[in-house]
Amino acid sequence: MGESILEVKGLKVYYYTREGVVRAVDNVDFFMEKGETVGLVGESGSGKSTLGFSILKLIPPPGKIVDGKIIFDGIDLTELDEKEMREIRGKRISMVFQDPMTSLNPLMKIGDHLVETIMTHEEVTREEAEERALALLRDVGIMPDRFHDYPHQFSGGMRQRVMIALALALNPDIVIADEPTSALDVIVQFQILDLMERLKKQYNVGMIFISHDISVVAEISDKIALMYAGQIVEYANAIPFFEEHLHPYAELLLQSVPNIELSDQKLKYIPGLPPDLLHPPSGCRFHPRCPYAESICKEKDPPLLEINTGHFVKCFRYK
Ligand code: ATP
Ligand code: SF4
Repeated sequence: MGESILEVKGLKVYYYTREGVVRAVDNVDFFMEKGETVGLVGESGSGKSTLGFSILKLIPPPGKIVDGKIIFDGIDLTELDEKEMREIRGKRISMVFQDPMTSLNPLMKIGDHLVETIMTHEEVTREEAEERALALLRDVGIMPDRFHDYPHQFSGGMRQRVMIALALALNPDIVIADEPTSALDVIVQFQILDLMERLKKQYNVGMIFISHDISVVAEISDKIALMYAGQIVEYANAIPFFEEHLHPYAELLLQSVPNIELSDQKLKYIPGLPPDLLHPPSGCRFHPRCPYAESICKEKDPPLLEINTGHFVKCFRYK
């Protein structure tokens, strides 16, 4: 096993809404090693973004980290105050969002976004920061003559390249990418995925790649963490996950994804609706939709168990 960089233990993140408590992340455990990419996948509302944001302690109110630990490079982030977290954000853990326009200042030139980020966190001259900004732009495929352009002069894909450059600017240990390609058309989506694949090796950066689309994370991930209703239900290296997925939800999910190599494939859909996290089902949260559910599944919450080395599953079928 490589060196651990992040360990999440028993994490609970709830939103205290007028309608009641939304258990968006409910007792999540996972870990990642330096430089590896974890694909965090699950349907809409399963808690992926909440888990991603909680690692940076950026949960918007009425959300709160209620319990658990987030151990990053030996430090429990849940114990840090806001000032200490500012030393971690951007510098050691950074984030790429779905919509770059929410993070880019429309009145600031592209190059200045990078220069400012570098100069705010490091003691360098403007010339040194500009040189690094140009190198970062080159690495993400943006020509130096675009340095003085404004965000609105860039296409969606180019803006996402800028966001990736910004996320890498301070050489972080982990980049959390939340649906970074979902708003892009398919060809641009492939280009950005290719770019991220190349950069993660070049910069030796770990990545948590969040997506509702398992075929997108398949390309880029070393490990897959499958989320269902606020919990990780299967966690494994990508190859064993795709070849020997164990959880019934993984089985149904993979049968619902078109596979161009299987021309006679019959696509299945997952019956039922994703659970309402205000009133999650009792016992195993997947039981109302699970073809293998037994009476114990309605009564007890199965533990996440390591079935084969590094392959974890949360289901009573595996003991
Ligand atoms: P999506 O891909 O749709 O963003 P997700 O898997 O990332 O889905 P989250 O956005 O983390 O899921 O949402 C998990 C649950 O928390 C959902 O039930 C959602 O309605 C709820 N939730 C998220 N943000 C808030 C908020 N600010 N206030 C109240 N509830 C919230
Ligand atoms: Fe299905 Fe039971 Fe396993 Fe849940 S614990 S996934 S209901 S078999």
